[in-house]
Amino acid sequence: MSDRLPGFSTLAVHAGAQPDPTTGARATPIYQTTSFVFNDADHAASLFGLQAFGNIYTRIGNPTNAALEERVAALEGGTAALAVASGHAAQVVVLQQLLQPGDEFIAARKLYGGSINQFTHAFKSFGWNVVWADPDDIASFERAVTPRTKAIFIESIANPAGSITDIESISTVARKAGVPLIVDNTLASPYLIRPIDHGADIVVHSLTKFLGGHGNSLGGIIVDAGTFDWSASGKYPMLSEPRPEYHGIRLQETFGNFAFAIACRVLGLRDLGPALSPFNAFMILTGIETLPLRMQKHCDNAKAVAEFLAAHPAVSSVNYAGLASDKYNQLARKYAPKGAGAVFTFSLKGGYDAGVKLVSKLQLFSHLANVGDTRSLVIHPASTTHSQLDDAAKIKSGAGPDVVRLSIGIEDKEDLIADLEQALA
Ligand SMILES: *Cc1c(COP(=O)(O)O)cnc(C)c1O
Repeated sequence: MSDRLPGFSTLAVHAGAQPDPTTGARATPIYQTTSFVFNDADHAASLFGLQAFGNIYTRIGNPTNAALEERVAALEGGTAALAVASGHAAQVVVLQQLLQPGDEFIAARKLYGGSINQFTHAFKSFGWNVVWADPDDIASFERAVTPRTKAIFIESIANPAGSITDIESISTVARKAGVPLIVDNTLASPYLIRPIDHGADIVVHSLTKFLGGHGNSLGGIIVDAGTFDWSASGKYPMLSEPRPEYHGIRLQETFGNFAFAIACRVLGLRDLGPALSPFNAFMILTGIETLPLRMQKHCDNAKAVAEFLAAHPAVSSVNYAGLASDKYNQLARKYAPKGAGAVFTFSLKGGYDAGVKLVSKLQLFSHLANVGDTRSLVIHPASTTHSQLDDAAKIKSGAGPDVVRLSIGIEDKEDLIADLEQALA
């Protein structure tokens, strides 16, 4: 064996998986079982007391899911990961470890519409208060810090406009405030950006999008960077204080640089319950094997489509960070040199009505609320994903009435351009 460290494409195919020890099956089997037999009573007791690692019950862990967790942790450069039922479940489980009722977290205002809803409404009922900041104005994050701030949450490439976030600058603010930086890396995937290399402490994903990649399985994942000291400030009792449900052990003291992933599993997933089906884990694992190939094609197609739209007379503007003229192009060159992703927006001179009409005329593009599929997708955010926001908030989050969002697939780019050409005509 050479002592070369495996590259990204090799990890995408192999990390976390080996031939099944019982049957020799080469693909990771779907361990479609709810529970696992203990060797004996002592083994059972040590599993329940967190003195040994092993399988108990699929709500807490499953071998198919474990292969997925190890693979994504390797691709992101983290110490450990936890797979859950959806991207939104990942966000709840992460924040449950960090916030007590009455606490605050700072979030970038440019986010997936569902996250804006979750943070504003659902989390309020838990007593978790979101404070919004502007990802284009780093000082707005600094100004938002208070003694109750427990975390900062951003997207690496932000929905819906595909803008690039200056992760390192916001990480500096988080370090100074003594709170972890959580990065939602869904739109970039680790092929384009690895947030941990830029100072993220926790990475979350909707696996539903580019990682799974085929529009067929929901999933979410949490990656622990292993970088944050949970005991330094006393602000994170879930990790630093004795846990009564586990004979008084302290998670950081016991599990060191993967304590956060353990907390998410044994306090979050165990008690809240959003487990990922092993079948979905299998589908997503298979999708990840081709992530580098797909992601490059997504980006190359997106750039060609953005260039076509920028030159079209019915289009007033295109927001794609991969265009040299775009205001995020400098950040794209720094953070995502292989490509600026495949989700972006453009504006039509005809406003709201033209946006609605375009969506109905497209044939190859599917009109639906998703991104990161092999198929090209289109949506008019103002009338759908962002319709709950008032006009000012729509514009601030990049979803004004004239804006159309595309998620470019891996078809032939000439066919995508031809479809847009006929619909714009
Ligand atoms: C889709 C999405 C989510 C939510 O993920 P689900 O799997 O749908 O729960 C979160 N963040 C981003 C950026 C997304 O695109």
